[in-house]
Amino acid sequence: MLAKMMNSPLLVSSILRHAAAYHGDTEIVSCSVEGPIHRYNYADLNRRSCKLANALCRLGLRFGDRVGTLAWNGHRHLELYYGVSGSGLVCHTINPRLFREQIGYIIDHAGDSVIFSDPVFLPILETLVDRLAGMKAIVIMTDVAHMPASEKLPNLVCYETLLSAESDDFDWPVVDENTACGLCYTSGTTGDPKGVLYSHRSAVLHAMAVVVPDVYGLSAADSVLPVVPMFHVNAWGLPFAAPMVGAKLVMPGPNLDGASLHALFESEGVTLTAGVPTVWLGLLDWMDSQRKCFSTLKRVAIGGSAVPPVMIQRFQDLGATVRHAWGMTETSPVGLVATLLPKHASLAHEQKLALASKQGRPIFGVELRIDGDDGRPVACDGKAFGALRVRGPWVADGYYNVAESPAHSAGWFETGDVATMDEDGFVRIVDRSKDVVKSGGEWISSIELENIAQAHPAIREAAVVAVPDARWGERPVLVVVLKPGQGFDHQDMLDLYAGKVARWSVPDAVISVDELPHTATGKLRKVEIRRIVLGEYARRARVT
Ligand code: AMP
Repeated sequence: MLAKMMNSPLLVSSILRHAAAYHGDTEIVSCSVEGPIHRYNYADLNRRSCKLANALCRLGLRFGDRVGTLAWNGHRHLELYYGVSGSGLVCHTINPRLFREQIGYIIDHAGDSVIFSDPVFLPILETLVDRLAGMKAIVIMTDVAHMPASEKLPNLVCYETLLSAESDDFDWPVVDENTACGLCYTSGTTGDPKGVLYSHRSAVLHAMAVVVPDVYGLSAADSVLPVVPMFHVNAWGLPFAAPMVGAKLVMPGPNLDGASLHALFESEGVTLTAGVPTVWLGLLDWMDSQRKCFSTLKRVAIGGSAVPPVMIQRFQDLGATVRHAWGMTETSPVGLVATLLPKHASLAHEQKLALASKQGRPIFGVELRIDGDDGRPVACDGKAFGALRVRGPWVADGYYNVAESPAHSAGWFETGDVATMDEDGFVRIVDRSKDVVKSGGEWISSIELENIAQAHPAIREAAVVAVPDARWGERPVLVVVLKPGQGFDHQDMLDLYAGKVARWSVPDAVISVDELPHTATGKLRKVEIRRIVLGEYARRARVT
């Protein structure tokens, strides 16, 4: 029997309409590309998103067309999220940190009709002139006074001029909730990037799932600063989640260094922030050196890579709780969050820290299984590990314009991660399946070895990679970036791991480098680090 309830579609535009109507005077603060801080509110965001939607119609865009964005977190990018998606088009956020060829490939593959870009990314566009030839417009997101000139792209349109001619009245269309609203390409280290096509339904459900107390715990009392860029998986859903509950939004623009972030946290009373571990290293080191603390910050959502326990501790010492989360571009992204349960209150501090540094428990809406080599679920004992598979309404079931989806089996998405689960449902990501070190038939977790190294006072950042070994197949090697003026040698390494891991999983060698390479989304580039290690091994062999 069918129920007698209204079948109102879940639409991105409904979030904006709600925020404008009931949280209209809540502020959105942005570090603008022009320099000064820009302030307006959700009512203004609605008006300007309507203007943008009218402008997109005038440009001749039709239902389902893709609109590319190359932009930092700011109010205009937010207007694109709503103006583009709300009018039935697809907001395609492009990661400007990708290689130029990848950006070109992505724009082509997505079939973008218009590109909206921050002025600072114009040099990228100028290298892609041929690919941009068929665009309906290339819009630079600034005002007339700050419009750059380009010989290679002479017909640039100014964002503010585009909007100024339009009415701020627009009827957001009521489309099927399964209509695509956003597109984000994975920054895969192998093969071409693949497009994840989000729906209005998945975006709204994901936002509803992450605002709850045990995930972001968002409310109208919060001031939220997404450090995670809007070009990376919708800034982890925060541009939808914050207006849904009427939280203040603080957009950092391109200023992600410790000093700028700290100043913004303090001046805007930020209570929740979110970003990848590498960004927090910079902030915490700067705060240490300046002896700064937080006045208002309460929660820090961290994901994208494993959070070392020492980072959780450093935030705790500053009065902020870390919410370690796991997710993927394909999972919108939040799938797991490590929020402790009431029964953990009596645990010793070290035990709590160990739990908080796991990737966490599934949030409602995400189902998962961890399967061994035989395809059967492994024991939930926190030790047995297997392939992590997930499914749910905000998990991708294919890629944009790719005929087959090898990453799926029997309705489950293969994450490519190797994981364990304990009896309370806390999942620990052991490794990406391609990064795990396979030594003498045993698997060694590079993440576990990195977390231990990260806690050493001389080490700023650590990576562990596998090198080929004639006897064991592979052996782990530790690569470290040291803090200024510090030393760390082979004996230090043996002392560090003694008693903490099995002897056969202690790395064979430690190599010190000036910096570690990261991907466009802040993850360690393990393939490149392996190359550095092999180069160093070859050099040492020549010397001896
Ligand atoms: P991406 O789609 O580029 O965001 O990458 C997703 C991948 O990042 C996952 O499959 C994991 O391998 C890794 N990842 C994300 N969050 C975490 C985390 N909290 N701990 C360890 N790895 C993570």
